[in-house]
Amino acid sequence: MIFDISKPIVEKLEDPLFKEKEVNVYVLRLDKVHPVVSGNKIYKLQYFLQEVLNGENAEEKYNRTLLTFGGIYSNHLAATAYACKELNIKSIGIVRGQRHPKSTHTLKQCEADGMHLHFVNKLKYQFRDSKGFQEEMIELFGKCLIVPEGGYHPLGAKGASLILDSFSCKKYSHICMATGTATTLAGILAAVPTSKQIISVPVLKNMTDINDRLKYLIPEMEYIDNLQVLNNYYFSGYGKRDDTLFEFMNQCWQKYNLPLDFVYTGKMMYAVIDSIKNDYFKSGSEILCLHTGGLQGNISLPLNTLLY
Ligand SMILES: *Cc1c(COP(=O)(O)O)cnc(C)c1O
Repeated sequence: MIFDISKPIVEKLEDPLFKEKEVNVYVLRLDKVHPVVSGNKIYKLQYFLQEVLNGENAEEKYNRTLLTFGGIYSNHLAATAYACKELNIKSIGIVRGQRHPKSTHTLKQCEADGMHLHFVNKLKYQFRDSKGFQEEMIELFGKCLIVPEGGYHPLGAKGASLILDSFSCKKYSHICMATGTATTLAGILAAVPTSKQIISVPVLKNMTDINDRLKYLIPEMEYIDNLQVLNNYYFSGYGKRDDTLFEFMNQCWQKYNLPLDFVYTGKMMYAVIDSIKNDYFKSGSEILCLHTGGLQGNISLPLNTLLY
């Protein structure tokens, strides 16, 4: 990796439920690989950072500048800002919505890490991937490498595959993860033996285009028959608060000492444990859950919502 992070550890969760159902549950703690750029985001950024620094004619093409997109609580913007600071790359964040006088913890952190923020309204933000929009950005900010929101690009998926380089996934029968753009999912699917079941938990309502996304992200993969999508765990929708979810997250903290975020990993763990209760997993299953980070997002919650 171009960016220095520590090796992620795997923790085993203990619960009478798992004993009763004869399954084992493990968590890959990607949230712990780095204090700031934790989770899956730094992996997805890997090859973009490499391209800005060492790509062919990089200096000329990108002027050591990276531009990307996100919302006001975006884990992706936070990770990008910090990684760019560390690697001495200029970073520009195109933010969906208006600048609020109070800003957010996430955006303050981005600016503290030297990211230049540029706000565009929600209507215009929808066109962020269009040629016209990108030309306008280059006019405003000069030459740069444009990274799609959430690293949604084959290069982002290739970076996500690196997650599997750091530990042996041999013993697991299932690998579970939360899905936003499906970039991490694509990277994992591309890199594991097809004998493993991959479980995706979309955090958005009505995410029906996962197969199209995978075709774009990993065009070299023709058949995927080891993927299962658990579509019913989006709760109140993307980034929305939900008391059932908060209660569950607090239980995970008390039972397993496992801190989760409310946008992604909370929903993923809920889906996995609910599915264990419903006998979705055969006895003998060895279930690995990816803790993809995102804990900084919890700072936006009212005090005392979470016990951690
Ligand atoms: C961004 C994010 C995801 C989703 O990853 P995708 O590659 O966009 O599917 C999952 N978990 C956390 C904590 C994230 O920040």
